[in-house]
Parts: sequence; C-alpha cells; structure tokens
Amino acid sequence: MKADAATASTAMAYRGPMAPPDAQAPFPVVVTIVIDQLAAWVMSDRLSTLRPDGGFARLAREGTYVREMRFAHAVTDTAPGHAALYTGVTPHQNGIVSNERIDEALARVSSLRDPKAIAVGTQGPREGDTNSSIAALRVPTLADSLRAAKPDAVIISLSLKDRGAIFGGGRTPTDVVWYDHTKGNFITSTAFTRTPPPWLASAWKEDHEPYAARSWDAPLRPDWVKSHTASADGQDGEGDYVGLKATYPHDLGAASSPTKAFRMTPFADRVLLSMALRAMDERAAGYHPTLVAISLSSNDYISHVFGPDSMEAWDELDRLDQELAAFFTALDRRFGPGGWGAVLSADHGTAPMPETAGNTALRPYCAPGYVDRWKRPCEKGERLLLEPLGEELDAVAVKTLGKGRWVAGIADPYVWLTEAAKKLPPARKKEMLAAVKAALLLHPGVARVLSSEEFPDACPPDEIESQDALLCRAHAKDAGGELYVLTKPGSFFDPNYAIGKGTSHGTDMVFDRAVPLFVRPGHAPSHGRVVDAPLTYRAFARNAADLLGIPAPKSVESAPQF
Ligand SMILES: [Zn+2]
Repeated sequence: MKADAATASTAMAYRGPMAPPDAQAPFPVVVTIVIDQLAAWVMSDRLSTLRPDGGFARLAREGTYVREMRFAHAVTDTAPGHAALYTGVTPHQNGIVSNERIDEALARVSSLRDPKAIAVGTQGPREGDTNSSIAALRVPTLADSLRAAKPDAVIISLSLKDRGAIFGGGRTPTDVVWYDHTKGNFITSTAFTRTPPPWLASAWKEDHEPYAARSWDAPLRPDWVKSHTASADGQDGEGDYVGLKATYPHDLGAASSPTKAFRMTPFADRVLLSMALRAMDERAAGYHPTLVAISLSSNDYISHVFGPDSMEAWDELDRLDQELAAFFTALDRRFGPGGWGAVLSADHGTAPMPETAGNTALRPYCAPGYVDRWKRPCEKGERLLLEPLGEELDAVAVKTLGKGRWVAGIADPYVWLTEAAKKLPPARKKEMLAAVKAALLLHPGVARVLSSEEFPDACPPDEIESQDALLCRAHAKDAGGELYVLTKPGSFFDPNYAIGKGTSHGTDMVFDRAVPLFVRPGHAPSHGRVVDAPLTYRAFARNAADLLGIPAPKSVESAPQF
C-alpha cells in the first residue's frame, strides 16, 4: 500500500514539455469536460463552498455559469446523456437509449458493443476481445462537424467508460481511449484504429501506475467536509465495493479487485487529466484546430457507491476542483490563458440515497415549507435490483407461457426479452407482456411501464417537458428493449456495484435531468456571468462549436451562445 500523502498536493503526474508562458499556439484549443453525475443541484449548492483558486471558481470567474441546463429526455443515464451533449439531439433521434443491453447469451453488455470491433491495447489488437464502436449512433457528432470543417483537426477523447469517450471523439478521432476495468488498462478499438495511440504505453506506466494500489486515506480537507455535510463516514446505505470499504481509508491495495476499485477513487480523475495533457503534447495540440473531450467518471462511481451527500462525494468534488485547477494551469503554460477555451457540463444528475429519507440535516429541502427548485425526492425510494427483478419477471412469464426462458434480463431502463420470446405469436407475447407489466407496477418504486409499441413515431419539440414528451424522446425505434420502466422520484435501478447500496439516477425529474454548464471562451472572457433560468442541453455543443470556430451543427443552431 502506498500512502495518500502525495495526493494532498495538486501536482499532476505528467507536466510534459511546456511552452513559454507567453506562447500562443496558432489555433484555439477547446476542451470539453463532462463530469459524470454532476447534478445542477449539487453544483448550485456547493459552488460557493469551493476554493476561490479551484477549477470551478475559475471557470465561473472567467466565463459563464449556467445553473441549470436541462436534458429533454427521460432516460437520464450516461450513454444517452453524452450522446445528447455531443449530437444536440435526443435519444429518439440519435439512437442511444441505454447504457447497456442484454445480448443473445443473456449477458449484460455495453450498448456500444459491436461484434466487429476488437479491443486495442498498448500491444495492439487483442484478437477475440470484442469491444465497442460508434455504430449504434445514428447522427453526426460535434467532432464529426469539426473533422468535416477542418480535416487536419486534432481530436482527442478520453474517459473511464466507452460511453464517456466514444461520442466526444466522433467517428474519426485522432485518439479515443477508455478504461477496461476487467483487465485494468486503457484501450481503444479497431472500430477507430488498429494502432494504439503512441502516448498510451507511457501514460499507462507513468500516469496510472503510481495510483494503481494507492490508498484514499482521508478527505483532503476533513474540516471542510465535516462543516458541509451532516453525513457520517459510513452513513447507512454506503457500500463496500470489492473491499474498498464504506469508511475511510479506501485502500486500493486491500481491494479484491484494485482495477475495478480504481474507478471509485479521485485518483482516476488525476490520471485521465494527466493522460489528456500527454496526448495533447504528442499530437501537437494548438498547432492544428484542437478538440479535447474529457469525461471524468470518478464522481459518478463514488456517488453510486457512497451517495451524493457522503463525505466521499464532497471530498471527490473538492479534489476534482483542485485537479481541474492544475489542469487549467497546465493549459495556460502551453497555450497562454487566451489560447484555450472550455465547456464543462454533466451527463445527468443524481438522487439522494434512500436511507437518508427523513433526515432533514442531509435533505434540508424536505423541511416543511421548503419549495425545492430541483424537486428532489423526500420519500424513501426503492432500489430495484437487476438480477432478482429479472428472475422475478421471468417467473411471471413462465406462469403465463409455460416452461422456457422468456425474460432475458434488465438493463435499465428496459426489460429485455429472449430470442424465443421475441418470436412468440403476437397474441401470446402481448399476454405475457401484460403480466410482466402488472408485476412491475406492483413495485412501489415503479411509476410507469411502456411497451416499445406504445411509443409514438414522432415526438413533441424539446421545449415540451411533459412526462409523455420526455419519455417519447428517451426511446428510439429498434434500439431498446421491450418494456421501458420509469421509476418514481427517489427510486432507481440498483447501480449494481455494491449491490443494494448507494444511489443512482435515471428518472425524468429535474434533479436527474438538470446539470450545470460552464463556458469559458478563452479569447474573450465573459467575466462571471451567471445564468439562472433553465436552458437547453443543446447549448453544450453550440458553445463548443463557437469556440472551435466551426459552423454550429444544425441541431444546435438555435441554442444560446455565451
Ligand atoms: Zn453518467
């Protein structure tokens, strides 16, 4: 085990060759950052508590902070969120309706999994190791518009997740990489290249290795954390994921799978930002039009295991803030403060942990008389466990149809059927689905269940925010499973990490659907403008296109510019 002491500093693992501070690269460098599961309500409540020299305060000071950017779809999950940000259209049009699906072998796999795509590691293609591609996406991305407008552009995209990296990089990235937690390394896919990025091996060794077995010992600022959250360390509901434990210290060296647990620590943010700098130096960012898309997921994993009000979640935000500040300083050194712009947002929000229901110290918005802008839930929600629920529903189907395997499983928000069930005569299938739907509606956490045939072909414009409209835009023909399950506020499908613990997202509610937006146009700082009224998710791609100096994709033309 390595001690955590070094992580108290903001020194990044990689600093690389730096140009003199007054250097100006010929092209603007645009960095888009998606903080996974950073709810608008979390940023709105916590921004003023963060350090004035932190990354978020800097973006707010030197640009525009939009308190509430709203997605127009109900499926508030990672793949649909990233796809909507980078395409400017909803899942209904872009075809990305869920994180995962159930495949023919009844395994839960990435919705981006492609039988034709093979993982590419530092040694090249790993034959037989099927991985992901962008084939499921039905429309162009921001990066695709950049490539079309400026063919020599440098496009770099990184994430812990395939679904966090692939939409930011588009169809022809220079480099797109994500983390393979099963093997514990960063990979790309033959869908993009058969040659690993030239910087990947040294990034793996020098950026990742120092953190592979480190211990997340304690909050960076214990007093600050304790003064802002009433949560105890190991609050009821917090999970122990692969031996990382529900209380500090969270020691990767003691975890049963350090490669999986790595994602649930703030170290992963640091490693990704270091890798981004390394990739930018290797690819001569700024000497070509440059888009660097970074998706930072530690915040998501930590909230999934410990909940958004935990000491760990506050500590993660504090540490992320410091990492971003160091990253922005590294950009200043390379390109000058005017030589880079940034657009930062999130892919979806989050819900409080069911165990904190009734605790008004942790949920002050549940106190009598409080009018909550974010409509955060106050009831104790239900965790819908994926495996037991799948088995329960299959047993219901067997009761209707007789022996066989009919329900393949749950990959939220959908119930997926087996090939045998899909081939049933329509009347038999309908009968079975009605029984499964009735069983789902008996769960206290289930709000609505829609069969794929119930979704209209055309949806109302994004501005219409009724539940029916949000659901319509969450679904795409021939993309999801058979039954769409909408949970009630505060209830959710178990995130499936520390099973039965932690929290998740996925509802149509504002606490899940609203995210913050920061726009820092490096060349013309807008100096601390705050936008309070909600605006569309399309502002993300609109402003990134502006900073890149390319025509805004048609889908986002009408969105506000800052
Ligand atoms: Zn996410």
